Amino acid sequence: MQALIAQLQQQRHFFESGATRPYAFRKQQLLNLKRAVEEHEEAIYAALYADLHKSKEECWVTENGFFMAELKDTLANLKSWMEPEAVPTNLLNLPSSSKVMREPLGVVLIIGPWNYPFQLLFTPLMGALAAGNTVVLKPSEFAPATAAVMEKIIHAVFPPEQVLYVPGDGATVIPAMMNHFAFDHVFYTGSTGVGKIIYKMAAENLVPVTLELGGKSPCVVEEDANITIAAKRIAMPKFSNAGQMCVAPDYVLVHESKRVELIEALKKAIPQFYGNDAAKEEGYGRIINEKQFNRIIQYLSDGTIVYGGKYDAASLYIEPTILDGVSVDSTIMRDEIFGPILPILSFNTMEEAKAIIAKNPNPLAFYIFTGSSAKEQAWLQAVPAGGACVNTATLHLTNPNLPFGGRGFSGTGAYHGKYSFETFSHKKAVMKTPTWFDPALKYPPFTGKLKLLKWLVG
Ligand code: NAD
Repeated sequence: MQALIAQLQQQRHFFESGATRPYAFRKQQLLNLKRAVEEHEEAIYAALYADLHKSKEECWVTENGFFMAELKDTLANLKSWMEPEAVPTNLLNLPSSSKVMREPLGVVLIIGPWNYPFQLLFTPLMGALAAGNTVVLKPSEFAPATAAVMEKIIHAVFPPEQVLYVPGDGATVIPAMMNHFAFDHVFYTGSTGVGKIIYKMAAENLVPVTLELGGKSPCVVEEDANITIAAKRIAMPKFSNAGQMCVAPDYVLVHESKRVELIEALKKAIPQFYGNDAAKEEGYGRIINEKQFNRIIQYLSDGTIVYGGKYDAASLYIEPTILDGVSVDSTIMRDEIFGPILPILSFNTMEEAKAIIAKNPNPLAFYIFTGSSAKEQAWLQAVPAGGACVNTATLHLTNPNLPFGGRGFSGTGAYHGKYSFETFSHKKAVMKTPTWFDPALKYPPFTGKLKLLKWLVG
């Protein structure tokens, strides 16, 4: 442990040397990282297949390709993001000038989960490097093949005083670091339960945090929605990565008049994506481990299986499954499902549906399928959520111009694109006042100056 803390201190020295601040340095680091990721492309695919049975195509869209797209955007814009931002100066302070400077935070800790093990560690890494920080990376121990490839990439590109890779059991190595070293920021992606532990440890040293957590993202299908399209756009993200996606539609709330039609449309859409036997489909994922598998299959008894329901413990396979007749009080409606089981509940009035959603407030995402802009507006205003999509699901997170993050139990803070740069930068307020003008009214005694001060201060 002593050796680890010494390495963290070396990071602080390196950061304090100022080496990471210049634009040219940051850009070069990002280019080096890009090249190494490109060189390891096949190894990344093989590792993600070993850990989660992901196809190359799925990896490209959700892991390394996702990262590459955002990296290109960051490289194209970094220079302008780093420019000090001139802001107006109020009357009281004229003729001063004012600007906001973005300065790096320092030594930041980034903690990743196992479901998108590459993207969810490397995308925040990109933001932290772009903002001029040194970084400690903690991958999830539950995606070991991907963790090993990422370690190789990091060792190939960065000295440990700039990016330190710390694998291992999170419950052991994270407290060992956070309880003995004051990071300048902790960026955590994972479950809400562990998020609370991280938040408490950070609070001890008043370390700021970004928490990218989970939750139950509802998907509302109104009576005027295009049901065939809704079924496809719900099934695609729900069963991608076998449902192990933080923003996957967790459950569907469909207007009762369209419940049967939606279920029939889902039953058509799923075999179009995965054939009649998803177990044989290359592109269909597997559950990460036995613990998660055993947790998920318990939910199968929380309703009537109207599609799917097969599973195989030996290969950690669970078929895409639709559950009808699910009670709002069942376990599947309390926990984040994080697996390929989709409960369908119905509603007659918006109030009824809102009451169900309110049982798990502030979801990471909210999805509304409707043909009416009045309903769209009403729903977007009715459900506080980290992000939202209208007539689609999850894809908001692929646009780097949108902030991605939760609120309340689904997290705090946001990232992607410029928002990552902002997350890993401190906004330093700077005022510069010339010396050629120095009126007496700015100094005591202030007696008799109230009228003037009222005008000046406003
Ligand atoms: P997790 O919370 O179990 O683990 C995440 C990280 O925390 C891992 O690196 C792990 O080593 C570490 N960790 C585990 N226990 C710890 C402890 N006691 N003390 C300190 N660190 C500890 O999460 P997970 O199972 O890897 O991921 C699934 C969860 O993450 C789901 O809830 C999902 O919704 C959420 N998630 C959120 C996002 C998002 O962007 N908001 C993305 C992916 C996953």
